Amino acid sequence: MTAMSSIGFIGLGAMGWPMAARLVAAGHKLIVEDASQERAQAFAADIGATAAETPTDVARGADILITMLPTSAIVAQVMGGDAGACAALRPGTIVIEMSSGIPAETQRIAEAVRQAGGSLIDAPVSGGVPRARTGELTIMAGGPLEIIDRVEPVLRCMGTSILRTGDIGSAHAMKALNNLASAAGLLATVEVLLIGKKFGLDPALMVDVLNVSTGMNNSTQKKLKQFILSRKFSSGFGLDLMVKDLTIATGLAEEMELEAPFSALCQKMWKSAAELCGPGHDHTEIARLSEKLAGLELG
Ligand code: NAD
Repeated sequence: MTAMSSIGFIGLGAMGWPMAARLVAAGHKLIVEDASQERAQAFAADIGATAAETPTDVARGADILITMLPTSAIVAQVMGGDAGACAALRPGTIVIEMSSGIPAETQRIAEAVRQAGGSLIDAPVSGGVPRARTGELTIMAGGPLEIIDRVEPVLRCMGTSILRTGDIGSAHAMKALNNLASAAGLLATVEVLLIGKKFGLDPALMVDVLNVSTGMNNSTQKKLKQFILSRKFSSGFGLDLMVKDLTIATGLAEEMELEAPFSALCQKMWKSAAELCGPGHDHTEIARLSEKLAGLELG
């Protein structure tokens, strides 16, 4: 799988667009598809690729097929629906499922791909839109090592850390758990700032202190000033997508009958924030729920 591979890429959203653009910049020939045909055509015209109308058309021309879609249900539909990719997979095609998905669903989709003559690995990412643009994502990879090794040069166009997590589905489990840790950190820090503000501390100064103290986390470094205190709420990662990830993570605990009360409360609060805000909001708007509960705004 060299720079000459023909790659199908389905899902050109906030993450998919810059990730696919990295592949084009590295010299790969891309066939792209998105539910928004306008978006696929805009990518073809602006970045340089062939736009296809259906997943079947993408699969017909691809050695490698990448999916970067909102949910496992959509991936299953794109792979197996009426105009689904499985119907036209070339023998030996490797499907790289880069969305954040549900491990058990991913295993089911992998079996459908296997029956269609291909193989699937799950390779979700962390790092958000900024690191998708620079090709510095963290990529978690689950599946047979020899398949991951074969596509590693392609993954390296999009990410700098490629971490093998185990069998198919293990990377999706890891990704959901990463986001649980990240979401808990963000929510806790928003409450910390609200308590501090009511006490009389300046929230921006608090972020500076946290960033050189043990309270530092990814949110203190990259989200609180940039998107919450600034009231921009434009990180590029949707609130609904975060709730999906947290529901996957807490679902894993439930499946294994493991008590995780803090995680369950965290998921519940994020879900309430999504209900409060409605669809189409940025995940940093979680602050609005805490602000409503506290009767105080951080901005
Ligand atoms: P997004 O909503 O911005 O983009 C999703 C894209 O998929 C859209 O362009 C949409 O039109 C397309 N799409 C939806 N249904 C489709 C279908 N049936 N066929 C073809 N295209 C379809 O989402 P995103 O932020 O790019 O996230 C994609 C995945 O990556 C999600 O699973 C998300 O959880 C994960 N993720 C996102 C980020 C982030 O910072 N945004 C970071 C890491 C992982």
